[in-house]
Amino acid sequence: MSNAARPTRYDVTRAQLGELLHSEPRFRVDQLWKGLYEQLGDPADLTALPKALRARLDAELPVALTTMVERVNDHGDTVKYLFELPGGSRIETVLMLYPDRVTVCVSSQAGCAMGCGFCATGQAGFTRQLSAGEILEQVVRAARKARELNRRLANVVFMGMGEPLANEANVWAAIERINSDIGLGARHITVSTVGLVPGIKRLTEWPMQVNLAVSLHAANDELRDEMLPINRRYPLGVLMDACADYLIAKGRRLSFEWALIDGVNDRDSDARELAALCRSLPLAAHVNLIPLNPTPGYPTRGTPISRVHQFRDRLEQLGVNATVRRNRGTDIDAACGQLAAGQPVQQITLGRRLHQRADHRPDE
Ligand code: SAH
Ligand code: SF4
Repeated sequence: MSNAARPTRYDVTRAQLGELLHSEPRFRVDQLWKGLYEQLGDPADLTALPKALRARLDAELPVALTTMVERVNDHGDTVKYLFELPGGSRIETVLMLYPDRVTVCVSSQAGCAMGCGFCATGQAGFTRQLSAGEILEQVVRAARKARELNRRLANVVFMGMGEPLANEANVWAAIERINSDIGLGARHITVSTVGLVPGIKRLTEWPMQVNLAVSLHAANDELRDEMLPINRRYPLGVLMDACADYLIAKGRRLSFEWALIDGVNDRDSDARELAALCRSLPLAAHVNLIPLNPTPGYPTRGTPISRVHQFRDRLEQLGVNATVRRNRGTDIDAACGQLAAGQPVQQITLGRRLHQRADHRPDE
């Protein structure tokens, strides 16, 4: 099945739907559009449409995502999806139900070319870009699930598989459509980047007020070069300049992500260097701390949680706002940002599925 031959359901624009329905009364386009994006339905469910048309649309507007696994964690507040794309590569999407909000973590690429050694996606390498429709479909699926659970999807974070600023055109197109078609404000959308400076600069000039998170993890070039190879191309000085310009232009909050690794970036000197970087910016940045999730290809361990809290307290002492994030979904191999990619992890996921209560919806 080729993606290029036929755009998938959520890649099709309203104008293209008009062409597809050119022999139908005009109001059908509106009905179908509302059915897809307000009702979040499949054409087969849209009973306002004649039956023959529903069948035709189901066939002519195929979905991109085939559900391989849908699994709820033990707390019942995280739903992980493993989806297969046309062509066979796999991505993950995680829906997180907090008491006060519902957030979906979406993938922007199948795999990632940035090569960060501590990241499961980076270890697997790059497979392909996701189209805007494939990104949007993850959001539609999450919004539908949230609705089934009597909740409302409120936030989208690009913290799944892939580097969003290495797939800029499709990510921007998806964000515009998440905004216009799903109705989520740009302020509820967060793009997380490893530090691709040209992309941060374009984001700064983009009129939409999306949030920016930068995966910092190290506050000196020597360590950051080692942990995030992209730092050799865009070292900290250049990255901080881009962050400062973003803050001045947007006046928006900037977050730094920091995955704490035992003995590597959790020392007092790391806290001091990080605080100095934060203080060098024209507006306060917020630091999100998370203990590193163990991955098969990286020997080092995450910092024990008590020391994660100490690191947070030290940052606060140094005048930096920091929050400890829970490792959502670790029990289902699906922490946001450390999503399972590649064969070995899939086997674990699928193998466990046999022993655990898990919904398996083969396809829709
Ligand atoms: N490529 C983008 C977005 C996806 S990764 C980026 O790097 O920002 C989302 C977040 O998960 C990033 O902050 C990333 O550094 C972090 N992450 C990757 N591997 C991790 C791991 N093993 N443990 C904890 N966080 C991890
Ligand atoms: Fe890619 Fe982000 Fe993982 Fe680095 S941390 S390999 S940029 S997904």
